[in-house]
Amino acid sequence: MATLFEAWQGVQGRIDAACTACGRNSTEVALLAVSKTFPALAVRELYIHGQRCFGENYAQELAQKCIDLADCSDIEWHFIGPLQSNKTRIVAESAHWVHTIDRFKIAERLNNQRPAHLPALNVCIQVNVSGEASKSGIHPDQLLELATAIRQLPHLQLRGLMCIPEATSDEDTLAKQFQSLKYCQAALQDQGFKLDTLSMGMSADLELAIASGTTLVRVGSAIFGARHYQQEKQ
Ligand SMILES: *Cc1c(COP(=O)(O)O)cnc(C)c1O
Repeated sequence: MATLFEAWQGVQGRIDAACTACGRNSTEVALLAVSKTFPALAVRELYIHGQRCFGENYAQELAQKCIDLADCSDIEWHFIGPLQSNKTRIVAESAHWVHTIDRFKIAERLNNQRPAHLPALNVCIQVNVSGEASKSGIHPDQLLELATAIRQLPHLQLRGLMCIPEATSDEDTLAKQFQSLKYCQAALQDQGFKLDTLSMGMSADLELAIASGTTLVRVGSAIFGARHYQQEKQ
């Protein structure tokens, strides 16, 4: 079995190859290592090899890892899980990025709870590109209104858009959904929003996401191995 380091290198190799295949420079695509459910020690190991951006889904787990890894002061923590009102304070105090904003109330709480000594919290709006009723994310028709409201919040910096496509292996469906996030970004840019981030692509579909213009892939299992869901916590 590949070591953690080899698996991480393997993912970087996939990113490089996918960029080459579609004529992009691999410096345009950031790798977010999704460390949820894995111990701080695994994060530290990749940190030593040079990985800096890590993704977490659960507020308590993020807060604990921030404590355990406080000496790794240039880690960039990205919160990528669903965010409930009662967890916003922890995230506002610990994270550098939040990818999953889909309602103003959560954005407003993060803004109000962001400590004054920290720089603005980078945020992405999560867009429901699959149209599934069960999915989080704002409907594309309501995106401009939410983005306009978030832009007024001084302690948040709107950086881009994020999506989780339908759970399917059908490449045409996935590519369509990735492209619709790209169209949403272009529409906001036409309205004057400066958005430099498209957060899309995971272990199974990062090549497709890269071909569709992603700037950040969120990769968990291809680096850290299978997660044990019974250990996941909220
Ligand atoms: C867990 C998670 C990932 C990582 O998924 P893998 O398939 O393990 O790469 C990416 N994005 C989000 C939002 C997640 O919750």
